[in-house]
Amino acid sequence: MKDNIAERSWVEIDLAAYSQNLQLLRERLLPGQCFMQIVKADAYGHGAKEIAEAAQKQGAVYLGVANLEEGKLLRIQGSGAPILILSPSLKSEIPLIIKYGLSPAISDLSFAKALFRAAKKAGEKIKVHLKLDTGMHRSGIALDEAPEIYKQIKAMPDLEIEGIFSHFASAENDQEFTDQQEHGFREFIQSLQEAPRYVHISNSAGLLNHYGKFCNLVRLGIASFGVTTTFNEDLPLEPVMTFKSAISQIKKINAKESVGYEREWIAPRDGRYGIIPVGYADGYDFLLSNRSRVLVQGQLCPVIGRISMDMITVDLTDLEEAQPGDEVTLLGNKSEALRAEKLAALYGGSAYELLCQVGRRAKRYYRINDRIHHSAPLARRDFVSSDFGDSKLNQIISSALTQRLESSEIGEMIYREILRTFFYNKDRDIHYRKDFCHDISFQGSPISGYYRAETSLRYRKVLRSDSFIIACAASDEILRGFFLNPNVEYRWLLDAKLSLSEESFAVNKVKVGGIDLKTRVERGEGFLLIHCSHPRLSRMINREIDFEIITTTLYSKSLHQFSVFISDLTKGIDISFSYPKELSHVEPVSIFSGQEKNPLIHRGEQMIRISTKADEWIFPLSGVVFTY
Ligand SMILES: *Cc1c(COP(=O)(O)O)cnc(C)c1O
Repeated sequence: MKDNIAERSWVEIDLAAYSQNLQLLRERLLPGQCFMQIVKADAYGHGAKEIAEAAQKQGAVYLGVANLEEGKLLRIQGSGAPILILSPSLKSEIPLIIKYGLSPAISDLSFAKALFRAAKKAGEKIKVHLKLDTGMHRSGIALDEAPEIYKQIKAMPDLEIEGIFSHFASAENDQEFTDQQEHGFREFIQSLQEAPRYVHISNSAGLLNHYGKFCNLVRLGIASFGVTTTFNEDLPLEPVMTFKSAISQIKKINAKESVGYEREWIAPRDGRYGIIPVGYADGYDFLLSNRSRVLVQGQLCPVIGRISMDMITVDLTDLEEAQPGDEVTLLGNKSEALRAEKLAALYGGSAYELLCQVGRRAKRYYRINDRIHHSAPLARRDFVSSDFGDSKLNQIISSALTQRLESSEIGEMIYREILRTFFYNKDRDIHYRKDFCHDISFQGSPISGYYRAETSLRYRKVLRSDSFIIACAASDEILRGFFLNPNVEYRWLLDAKLSLSEESFAVNKVKVGGIDLKTRVERGEGFLLIHCSHPRLSRMINREIDFEIITTTLYSKSLHQFSVFISDLTKGIDISFSYPKELSHVEPVSIFSGQEKNPLIHRGEQMIRISTKADEWIFPLSGVVFTY
């Protein structure tokens, strides 16, 4: 990947390893037990959104987050799963907890009362989980107060006690204490007339050390991410996260010269060392100085000298083949020495912490086996899109454009500012198309009442994944769904009278970055999906490349209009419509929002062309309707 990934460092998340870990863990559940996937702290750095989605596919009945913000972010990213906020919430957070349909943990009566009042006012029933302190002595209701508080909360009609839980302090290695915690919890649960829907106490270590057999829910965190510790040595868990970078420079060093701050490493012999653009600011812990190793060309090379804020140095003397640009693995992968737990052990740290902090500046790439199917920008982790929602965006754009009418200077300034904020900050991962060229040609067809429509679509854009879909819908409703699916690159609405088949909608060619893609047609109720992919595409991810899609389909003569929609943000368009002689009165009606409301119209013989300047932005929901 070294030639293609532009980042200084990146994180790969192996979703196949995650699924495999979960399969192993699920085998340890007792009949009737289900699991909650803990996705707090951005799923221990793995990406809460992606892990939440994968967890649900594996049957997770609940997601666990640390606080309101994390839950809110998941909701905004589209998760409809039940979400438990594990830590105590603040009273000031109650309105948003209700708004986003999150279940708070309740650790004291005063919060429960405030929540009850808010729930009553909102006219909603809120699901809560009571948190009992069975000995960890962090949050939670003390066991001796639990019966009374339980009674009072039970009497609040707008709160539903959906769960009761507790948390082990030391399920991995203190059996006596853990037994005691479990005992206290069980006694309380058994004292209840009716148990709530969910009773849970075990984290990963609790499950694997056979605690909580009377519970019906288990909260899985660290083990699902493939970290092995003393309590799960017998499980072949695979690390899900890999942290990578590349050698940026290689230098010579003479014996007795030192490398880095405080001259903590002195060369024992003449040799070579490499510089890797990752430091403690990237989460590569300072305490790994002079201790850890990294993998280059399959060989472990010692980290020499102190870890700097943005750089580390590695001894390459024994690896003559190493070259600048070589991929470097710092954590994870299949190398035993680079597992999070092994690295953390080098400095007496915690694998939990290491996973959370590593790759703080890095983008995440999601793979399933050898395929990268998705990448997530860093900003995903704290950028709440609803704080900058579509409608707000449109408001800003339209008011900026209105401003322009009043004062071109101010309008221009605001407009540029918006563009800069959105499009030049690459971390935002704004998708847009460039040099968009769409040619549509209507011709006679053997099917009466229909034209044969040849469409050719060309544009440039940054490739985000190694596969995408071309979708043909038989109804508006299904088409709308395709507009919401980011994996759909091109959509077509087929006349309802035609049957969906490759005769009525054929993809003749899909060429991306000069490669003819492989296509596979999937037929569904009311739609055709053409899956387009090629193994070589994975090497072009994050590069700007050419797309070309050519289709043949049928278009009803009686509709008297044909529309081209601009569904993505686009820079520079050129749309042409060629038609047969029998159509003598073709008129284009363009609806453009962007820098210029009125694009150029050029009429030729039996053809109309609509275009803008190449560097002009056109916003989504623009388009042109050709009437005939
Ligand atoms: C983080 C957390 C877990 C998950 O613990 P692991 O050891 O990672 O499995 C479970 N329950 C609660 C309350 C937590 O905060």
